[in-house]
Amino acid sequence: MTFTKTATQIKKSALNELAKTRDINTLAFWRKEYLGKVGKFTKLTRQIAQLPAKERASAGKAVNELKQALAKALQEREKQFHELPPSPVSRSQLSTFFDLTAPGADFQLGHLHPITQMRQYAEDIFVRMGFEVFEAREVDDDYHNFESLNMPPQHPARDLWDTFWTEDELVLITHTSSMQHRILLGQKPPIRAIIVGRCFRHEATDASHEHTLNQIEGLYVDKGIKLPDLIGTFKKFLDEFSQRDIKMKIQPSHFPFVEPGIEFLLDCAICFGTGEVEGERCSTCGGSGWLELAGAGMVHPSVLAEAGLDPQKYSGFAWGFGLDRLVMVKYGIENIRHFYSGDLRFIRQF
Ligand SMILES: [Zn+2]
Repeated sequence: MTFTKTATQIKKSALNELAKTRDINTLAFWRKEYLGKVGKFTKLTRQIAQLPAKERASAGKAVNELKQALAKALQEREKQFHELPPSPVSRSQLSTFFDLTAPGADFQLGHLHPITQMRQYAEDIFVRMGFEVFEAREVDDDYHNFESLNMPPQHPARDLWDTFWTEDELVLITHTSSMQHRILLGQKPPIRAIIVGRCFRHEATDASHEHTLNQIEGLYVDKGIKLPDLIGTFKKFLDEFSQRDIKMKIQPSHFPFVEPGIEFLLDCAICFGTGEVEGERCSTCGGSGWLELAGAGMVHPSVLAEAGLDPQKYSGFAWGFGLDRLVMVKYGIENIRHFYSGDLRFIRQF
C-alpha cells in the first residue's frame, strides 16, 4: 500500500472514531490512539525516513495535510463538548474533576414516624419508673390471647375480639395482654413490665377508631398492690408524657382478665372537653368531651393462678392503652386515620 493511501485510510478511520467520542474522556483516548507518542499518525510520520528519496516530498505533504485535518477536527470536537449546557450530568461527563467544596443537591432527610417517636418516649418514662420493656408477638395462639386470660373457649367476651385468624388457628393479637402469661410464668414478684405491640381489631374506622392500633400494656404484680397504685402509676405516666394538666375520668368497666375493671378517659384535646367545635358536635370524641384511653384493673386471680402465682399472696394491676389515641391527645390531632394515611404533609410536622 502506498504511503498516501495509508494516510487517507488513517484520516478516514480517525474522523470516524472522532465522531463517536462522547465526552472529554473518550476524546483523550482518541487523541492518544492517533496523535500520541505511539499513535497512528506518529508512526506514519516515522515511516517517511525509510521511503525512497523521491517519494519523501509527497509523503511529507500527505502527512502535513493529515495533521492539519486531524487537528482541525479535534478542535471542533472539543469545542462541541465545552459548549454543552453545564447540567450536572454533562459536567460529570466532561471531566473527571470532582469539586468536593461544591454545595450538594437538596436532600430531604426523613425521620421516625410520630407513633414510633412517641412509643420510644413512653418507653423511656416507664423505664425510669422501674419497668422492663417487652415486645408483643403480632401473631399468637388462642391460649395466650384468650385462654390464659380467663377467657376459655365459648366465653362471650371473645365475640368482641373474634377477629383475624390464620388458617392454622393463630390469631392476630387483639391486645398486648397476650404476653401477660409468658411474663408472669415462673417469675418471682415484684414483676414490673411494659408490653408494646401492634394489635388488630374488627373496627369500623372513624375519626377515633382504627383496625390497627399500637398498644402499651402495663403489668405490675407484687404483695399488697391495690387499685390506688394503678391509678397513681398511670396518672404519673400521663403527667410526664403530656406535659400538661390532663383531666382524667375513671369509670367502671368489665374485662375478663381483671377484677375489678376500670376505664380511663381523658378530656378531648380537640374540643377541650366541651364536646363542641365551632358550634358543631366534636367528631373526635363524638360530642362527649371525653376520649376512652385505656382499659385497666386488678389482675384477675385466675390469671395469676394460671401462671403459678398464689392469688392469696400476690396481687397486681394491668392496663392497656392505645398509643395512637394518646398521641392524638398530646398533639391535638383530630383524626386517627392520619397516622396510616402515608400523607407526608402530615408526617413532616413531627
Ligand atoms: Zn372532642
